[in-house]
Amino acid sequence: MSWLTPGGLTAALAVGAAVAWGFGWQGLVLLFAFFLSGSFLTQFAERRAPRRTARQVVANGGVAAVAALCGAWSVAAGALAAAAADTWATELGAFSPFAPRLITTGARVTRGASGGITALGTAGGVAGALVLATLAAWLQPRGVAAGAVYHGRTRTLLVLTGAGVAGMLADSVLGATVQGKYECPACDARFERGNTVCHEAVRLTRGWRWLDNDAVNLAATLVGAAVAGLGSGYWR
Ligand SMILES: [Zn+2]
Repeated sequence: MSWLTPGGLTAALAVGAAVAWGFGWQGLVLLFAFFLSGSFLTQFAERRAPRRTARQVVANGGVAAVAALCGAWSVAAGALAAAAADTWATELGAFSPFAPRLITTGARVTRGASGGITALGTAGGVAGALVLATLAAWLQPRGVAAGAVYHGRTRTLLVLTGAGVAGMLADSVLGATVQGKYECPACDARFERGNTVCHEAVRLTRGWRWLDNDAVNLAATLVGAAVAGLGSGYWR
């Protein structure tokens, strides 16, 4: 398994089991659509992505797994739409001919910097949300959504696309504002991981130390889940 660390594999199996338990094969199809499309785009972008850890798997799939255990289809799908939108935006944004700009101030930032967006990446993210939403609307089980009003496919499609896009935007806003950013005290090179050692150990220059990229991803899937739940008539 070249995509996952042993811990990541364990976490992925747990997420898969929760989704299968909650939604059966329809849930697994949705989960695989997210996982395979993301992995394919990473390969396509020829990015040497490090193998995903348990933390990263939970950041992307944990909210969907919990929603699956509650039988909340649209909430789980909203979380996955947000995770897919993020992944697609990141991978397709790498092909942008223009440098990314910070979502908050519009200042130019280096490629791959958290909070930076491009038109191409954003369009890719919307496409990712749309693909997951279309699948989820097509596969949505009748009657499984305890507490939710049953809505037709069109409404589900629109709500879930909106949920995915909202999650993607939340990811960028958090990445641009409160996510921890670090600098090498010796050469001013910038980093996003607090455990990096450049010329010397990096130090926090902005944001919150505990809010790393994984925590931001988790928050983005929570936003996707919340928007999907609201739009589907939960919590009314
Ligand atoms: Zn340095």
